Amino acid sequence: MAEKVYIFDTTLRDGEQAPGYSMNLEEKIRMAHQLETLGVDIIEAGFAISSPGDFESVEAIASAVKDVTVASLARALKKDIDAAWNAVKRANSPRIHVFLATSDLHLEYKLRMDRQTALERIIDNVRYARNLCDNIEFSLEDATRTDREYMCRVVEAAIKEGATTINLPDTVGYSTPIEVAEMVRYVRNNVPNIDKAIISMHNHNDLGLAVANTIAGIEAGARQVECTLCGIGERAGNAAMEEVVMAMKTRSDKYDFYTGINTTEIARSARLLSSTTGVKINPSKAIVGDNAFAHESGIHQHGMLANSKTYEIMTPESVGVVKTNLVLGKHSGQHAFEKKLEELGYSLAKDEASKLFAEFKKLCDRKKKVSDRDLVALVESTEAEAKQLWTLEGFVINSGNHMTSSAVITLKKGDKIYQDVSTGTGPVYASLRTIEKIIRHPFSLEDYQLNAVTEDRDALGEALVKISDQRGVFRGRGVSTDVIEASILACLAAVNRMLDESSTSIAGGVPAQAMSFENDMLIGHTDKSEE
Ligand code: MN
Repeated sequence: MAEKVYIFDTTLRDGEQAPGYSMNLEEKIRMAHQLETLGVDIIEAGFAISSPGDFESVEAIASAVKDVTVASLARALKKDIDAAWNAVKRANSPRIHVFLATSDLHLEYKLRMDRQTALERIIDNVRYARNLCDNIEFSLEDATRTDREYMCRVVEAAIKEGATTINLPDTVGYSTPIEVAEMVRYVRNNVPNIDKAIISMHNHNDLGLAVANTIAGIEAGARQVECTLCGIGERAGNAAMEEVVMAMKTRSDKYDFYTGINTTEIARSARLLSSTTGVKINPSKAIVGDNAFAHESGIHQHGMLANSKTYEIMTPESVGVVKTNLVLGKHSGQHAFEKKLEELGYSLAKDEASKLFAEFKKLCDRKKKVSDRDLVALVESTEAEAKQLWTLEGFVINSGNHMTSSAVITLKKGDKIYQDVSTGTGPVYASLRTIEKIIRHPFSLEDYQLNAVTEDRDALGEALVKISDQRGVFRGRGVSTDVIEASILACLAAVNRMLDESSTSIAGGVPAQAMSFENDMLIGHTDKSEE
């Protein structure tokens, strides 16, 4: 009979630690809701002690989701465990995830601790955590480089103290599938109380083996997988959830396992991650890349037409890639528009839908055919906007190759209209300077990206802007057939977030050293640790 493999999603902890993937509080909550819809079993929502911002987001996620376990990471330290517990205790199903490194390399150089001391520390802290919460996971950081005999003693002790999940991570992404399988089997054969816990995998992708190692671990008896959407995470990332899940599903002839994942939510989840963070998905990315189901070569197309099984091992629909035939245009009514959005997986409130429909009509005046991707860009550019403090009334740009660019911009705030002009080395630069001048609030530009939404000549341009002030980094998105307008709209969206006291920044808003780690010299690094 098929056995369940639990999906432990760490997109919001290990994933969010990766450069470029920071999210603010509202974005994390939205992501957590989508992970719940996707059907993950456990959400690792953050590392509560690492910053007040992390604590706050773990706590908010714990209250926001219902049908999923919420975990916080904690070093094997009482104050970490207290913070983790205080952050997750409101969850319907809370978990504390305690970790300590167990390889000699980490013990000697990072922790400056001998094996016996580390073992005692693990016993103490797992026991302490277990007295707070009945769902405890213990991770042996750098397990794949840990002495096997010592590993078994640690695992036995952690289970004896009440850990019900034991994670054996390949922290540095060094192992091979056969080694991982051997490690899991060794632990299963040599730890007397191992039947009281679930063995978990957490593999990093430094050698591109994270998914292969994870599958090998499952074959050897692991029943929890720690993974992230699109495989994001520290360095080269973690095992990609969509790949692990679809490998087991597509090859169910080989793997007699099932997961709680509703695979038709995979594409939407990956898209939400990408649109939230502004990091594009690699077109060749397995399962969720734009080309994952595209058949360009003539031979392949011929085969596909004869029978899709010739070249397609799973259907695009099975991972939620929907291709609808209904093309919208100028004459489409609101009903058709809403139906289309529904097909694309968006359920919008009536007033939101009406507002978006107006935007759609404006777009139709500029663009003959409105594709699915245009609509997605439109929906996502208006989603979760901050208060519209400043709005765009109009702009005039003067630019050319033998002149300094200038931008005259008219903005509206309340009932008042403001206009100003600035010059710059290019039209975008001039526009940003004008906006800064009008709002009288200096900011720096942290990142700027411009993408075409489709390949058409009249494609929508999508601009992503990150700006910062002393409060932190704020992101904005703008979509228009005019790339300068898209850039201005993106900048204004970021400005409105920056000036809205209630909106949280994606990074830097709270100094990382806001909490003291002075007494932790023994434990080593004080930054957001990985395990
Ligand atoms: Mn990790």
